Amino acid sequence: VTKTFPETARAEAEALLRCVARARSRGWCEGTGGNFSVVVSRKPLQLLVTPSGADKADLRTQDLLLVGADAAPAEGWSGRPSDEAPLHVAVAERTGAGAIVHTHSVWGTLLGERFGASGGFRIRGYEMLKGLAGVRSHEQEIFVPVVANSQDMAELGAAVRRELAARAGLAGLLIAGHGLYAWGAGVAEARRHLEIFEFLFEVVGRRASLEPFTG
Ligand SMILES: [Zn+2]
Repeated sequence: VTKTFPETARAEAEALLRCVARARSRGWCEGTGGNFSVVVSRKPLQLLVTPSGADKADLRTQDLLLVGADAAPAEGWSGRPSDEAPLHVAVAERTGAGAIVHTHSVWGTLLGERFGASGGFRIRGYEMLKGLAGVRSHEQEIFVPVVANSQDMAELGAAVRRELAARAGLAGLLIAGHGLYAWGAGVAEARRHLEIFEFLFEVVGRRASLEPFTG
């Protein structure tokens, strides 16, 4: 069986791999942590997604797998997509995102753990917030939802769908003790949102060590 790489998606696939390399270089997806996808068709929904268990250090475009709305490989494609592909599908369906990125960073892991019980946390007062779509001022407050982690992808997918249905306009959310999902209209925006969230998570995480700061 020969898979046919969708040539129209090559530029986006290459952009996605540059995003993976960037995230890897920042230590946000060590080992086999994290997974990434780009939507190549809306009707029917199809995404190119990183393979299961792949080290992000040496991924090539031909390693990406085409999956459908069932998160299974499309006809003619073999291989095992990321176990978290159902979450990428959930985000693509619920938000209309064109690219979805998922990292396992230190600060995302810690903040998800810290705020898992309360369901999320707020961030305001930082200039870098303006890197998120729709945020015009550092005074604008954002809410970062935290969804409980699970190894049951159907259960986790349902929890993510509920959160997305309840809150319009999100650019990302955390899974407790696990990591960040961020997305955007295309790879460029998803990557920008990833970098903004990871920056803000590190800021609010490190801030705790300065409190009380009376300088
Ligand atoms: Zn993960």
